[in-house]
Amino acid sequence: MRKKLVAGNWKMHGALQQNSTLLARITAAASGLACEVAVFPPYPYLAQAQLALAGSVVALGAQSVSEHASGVFTGEVSASMLAEFGCRYVLVGHSERRALFGETEIVVAAKFEAAQSSALVPILCVGETLGQREAGKTVTVIARQLAAVLERVGVAAMASAVVAYEPVWAIGTGVTASPAQAQEVHAAIRAQVAALDAGVAEGLRILYGGSVKPQNAVELFGQSDIDGGLIGGAALVADDFLKICLAAN
Ligand code: PEP
Repeated sequence: MRKKLVAGNWKMHGALQQNSTLLARITAAASGLACEVAVFPPYPYLAQAQLALAGSVVALGAQSVSEHASGVFTGEVSASMLAEFGCRYVLVGHSERRALFGETEIVVAAKFEAAQSSALVPILCVGETLGQREAGKTVTVIARQLAAVLERVGVAAMASAVVAYEPVWAIGTGVTASPAQAQEVHAAIRAQVAALDAGVAEGLRILYGGSVKPQNAVELFGQSDIDGGLIGGAALVADDFLKICLAAN
């Protein structure tokens, strides 16, 4: 039985006072939830979140990581630095990183490997654009994104990783994949991993992300291969985020 995970990606949002209120609401409610909860603030707020989450069951994650261990990479943050600030998870390959910051499949795979080398759990984000879906290429695109990582790290590495299926057309748009559309892709992801290692595939948590709201979370999380959610906009509103967490109970 896979424990569901609800991960809140704050993107480039937040401020000290606002974070403090949001973190207090989440930590107060989290111990009563059956799912695992994680928050992903921007880098400068990791220390604030680490302190606020101390002693709670809420996990901390970062939104990105450098593929390099250290060195002359101005503006970058390494996996070991994230680990020092209490991060358990890190997002790799978010569609905004791929589209806006030119992260290729090779770079995403290197970041995945760097995260694991510092004992962080990477959440590998994969997803198709609307054009790719309309061209009937969804499963092929996702399979290629996943294969790029599997080729670099091997299937055993997926035992300490999470995958997030995030259709690009659903992120921040208010349009959500139907539960059936999401389940079809999640099942394909699990089958791709199962072809290499059935045990790893069975234990792999595959999150859905893309305009998850309290109103659609129950049905999405009820699908057999959907193991929780990666939440953007709704992660900034305590009531909505906690209702989504309850939907994963
Ligand atoms: C995301 O940021 O990964 C995301 C899914 O955003 P939203 O929930 O706002 O669509």
